[in-house]
Amino acid sequence: NVDTALYTAKNSGRNNIKPFDPHMRFVTYDHLVMESDIQNAIDENQFYMVYQPKFDALTRSMTGLEALIRWRHPRSAMISPGDFIPVAEQAGLISAVDDWVLREVCRQIRVWEKAGLQVPVSVNISQIHFQQLDFTDWLRRTIESYDVNPKLIDIEITETALMQHYDEDHILAKLQELREIGVSLSIDDFGVGHSSLNLLRTFPVDFLKIDQSFVRDHEKPDIVTAIIQLGHSLGMQVVAEGVETPYELEFLTTQGCDEIQGFLLAKPMSPDDIATKLSNDELHIY
Ligand code: C2E
Ligand code: MG
Ligand code: MG
Ligand code: MG
Repeated sequence: NVDTALYTAKNSGRNNIKPFDPHMRFVTYDHLVMESDIQNAIDENQFYMVYQPKFDALTRSMTGLEALIRWRHPRSAMISPGDFIPVAEQAGLISAVDDWVLREVCRQIRVWEKAGLQVPVSVNISQIHFQQLDFTDWLRRTIESYDVNPKLIDIEITETALMQHYDEDHILAKLQELREIGVSLSIDDFGVGHSSLNLLRTFPVDFLKIDQSFVRDHEKPDIVTAIIQLGHSLGMQVVAEGVETPYELEFLTTQGCDEIQGFLLAKPMSPDDIATKLSNDELHIY
């Protein structure tokens, strides 16, 4: 499928001027097409959200969901967010995508509420959007406009995003603003970025999410153990993502990991499937 090849072709950004190479034109074209397609996708409702449950490691009951974006592209096979989010970031479209996501999540929370279900949802926020000055205002206004309890919203920011912030005082102030809004905060993909432990100690963070690569690297279990201990000593809860095997689940549980997420327990699902499983009490894993 030519379109799929086109879209999955990695590229280094159109602002990089390089010596001419016949492949370059193809890559640049691909990038520009994807940019305009992302704008269209927002306007024409091609995005939709799926929700992956997280579970309490000990009781195995569901603690909340992570919202993950999907793109029903009219001319291409499924394009994963890992491929199009970076393009949206470079094209200045990421705030629009994040805005669509948060609105959709708030709307969905209200739908579940009307069905008698109170579900906390984690929302992934792009680093570029998080760094914008109006980020916290946008967050507060959007949550308020849907009349959603902010305690039901968790914001996921990658460790890299957090630590690349230009100014320490500024980021601390921003995290405190999140606290005042009433949302919780998770640091995503923890362990692959470069955290200053000194800074991390001062940040009001609720959850550390261990990067999947560590969960699956059975050769180096010490790293997982160390992250769990670090999180706990900083007063944070620790979540493992990407858990695929009973062995990993068992190991993480005995190491004291608080919450578990991964294909072993539940894959990302449609909102209707979530509602059905919650109503049938099927989201308690024994
Ligand atoms: P992430 O936030 O770290 O999300 C975890 C990714 O791991 C998701 O991929 C999820 O489907 C996948 N995953 C969950 N359990 C397992 C497992 O057991 N095994 C394996 N192999 N994978 C598992 P997905 O949905 O493709 O998202 C990739 C990344 O794209 C996310 O990483 C996040 O950084 C970004 N992303 C996804 N949705 C959004 C969104 O709505 N907004 C923004 N700004 N970024 C998003
Ligand atoms: Mg995440
Ligand atoms: Mg992650
Ligand atoms: Mg990731």
